[in-house]
Amino acid sequence: MQKTFIDEDRFQSLLTNTPSPSTAMLADVLKKGRELKGLTPEEAAMLINVIDLELTEEIFDAARYIKNAVYGSRLVFFAPLYISNYCVNDCLYCGFRAGNPAMRKKLTMDEVREQTGCLIEMGHKRVLLEAGEDIGNNPVDYILDAIDAIYSVRNEKGEIRRVNVNIAATTAENYRRLKDKGIGTYQLFQESYHRPTYEKIHHGPKSDYRRQLYALDKAFEGGIDDVGMGVLFGLYDWRYEVLGLISHAAYLFDTFGTGPHTISIPRLRPAHSVNLRPPSPVSDSDFLRLIAILRIAVPYTGMIITTRESPEIREAAFRIGITQASAASSTTPGGLGKGRPKGAGQFELSDKRSLEEITVSAMKEGFMPSFCTACYRRSRTGTVFMELARPGDIQEFCGPNSILTLMEYMEDNASPESRHLGLEIINKTLEAIENASIKKQTEDKLARIRNGERDLF
Ligand code: SAM
Ligand code: SF4
Repeated sequence: MQKTFIDEDRFQSLLTNTPSPSTAMLADVLKKGRELKGLTPEEAAMLINVIDLELTEEIFDAARYIKNAVYGSRLVFFAPLYISNYCVNDCLYCGFRAGNPAMRKKLTMDEVREQTGCLIEMGHKRVLLEAGEDIGNNPVDYILDAIDAIYSVRNEKGEIRRVNVNIAATTAENYRRLKDKGIGTYQLFQESYHRPTYEKIHHGPKSDYRRQLYALDKAFEGGIDDVGMGVLFGLYDWRYEVLGLISHAAYLFDTFGTGPHTISIPRLRPAHSVNLRPPSPVSDSDFLRLIAILRIAVPYTGMIITTRESPEIREAAFRIGITQASAASSTTPGGLGKGRPKGAGQFELSDKRSLEEITVSAMKEGFMPSFCTACYRRSRTGTVFMELARPGDIQEFCGPNSILTLMEYMEDNASPESRHLGLEIINKTLEAIENASIKKQTEDKLARIRNGERDLF
């Protein structure tokens, strides 16, 4: 019997009974946050209950400080790759739900390779493979073949170097097979930690709350040490869900010696044949608050925002905690490339800009786009990654490696405008590297990339 880490009564009591903190109390908690020590659910509840606007600004300041201390200005880009919208579940929020009569599509391996080619053309190096749950149409063998197909594509713009996977909860044996295929992160969202809400909204095998809650344990059992968690915000009170995420992260850390690699924070979007209105809508300002609180609470964990959000919200979120963002997405299997069907995807997108437009705008805002996959390929995952990431030491690797992948993007994909901006950022970041030997190595590798070599890390 697994340890219980979601305690509804305790969460509700924390939210109701934790007072809005005084300036001095808040200063203590934020000091701990700035020391990268994370927050307990009790401390997070205190931040959640801040009502004073000036104190709220202090929360944002602390989140900004932590984001910079641990991750600098880097922003990692990836693209989802939807391979099948067959699904036996009827999750009331999802365009792939079984009750939606829309046409179903499952990519052939040729189509997987063709869609992968489209992403590589854009400049992507990381994909997140996505599929509905249907062991008849999307058995694990199909997923494994698709991973092989993605990794097999090489064109003049490069290759995909890391395939992360977001598929339904499965067995430890299947997780082992995914791990053996060389996946990066296995992501699975709890959607809602509030059991009554979870059970009301899900129908089919996914409606088993405990199956979802302990799926990441099974992933660890299967040898995957790099997992991502998430909540679908809008289903239930965001404040409760934040406590759920923090408790789940702490549970994984205590149980497996490593916390989640990423936390995703999707907000409910309209979708084809979905009538569900967000039962607990999250306003833009609360959304940014919850990102800041999570940033302070789990400083060593990457945070992902997707194209579900508008360019404006994404940019604000980058400053206060987001470390990874999707770009140039389609939620329709086969939807990438010109003249492709754009309808009947999983949900509606908000940021529809190209990868090029997104990188230019990120650079103008002072961020450094990164396509880095070095940690994964150097086997810096699980506890090894956490030991580096927790004290903030990962910067030493990330800065130089990100520069190299940005240089590749500049050489292979960039427009003149983005090239100009990118080279400026590369030079500035290079200048800031203090360790003379690392700086020299990075300069040498940059020269090799300019001479046509690729994939140096
Ligand atoms: N089918 C698998 C599952 O449900 O675990 C894989 C994940 S699904 C392809 C990706 C995620 O999209 C879901 O976990 C859910 O959080 C999110 N999602 C589904 N419908 C959505 C909607 N209408 N708006 C925003 N996100 C949605
Ligand atoms: Fe299927 Fe996942 Fe959509 Fe639920 S969220 S209907 S499991 S694809």
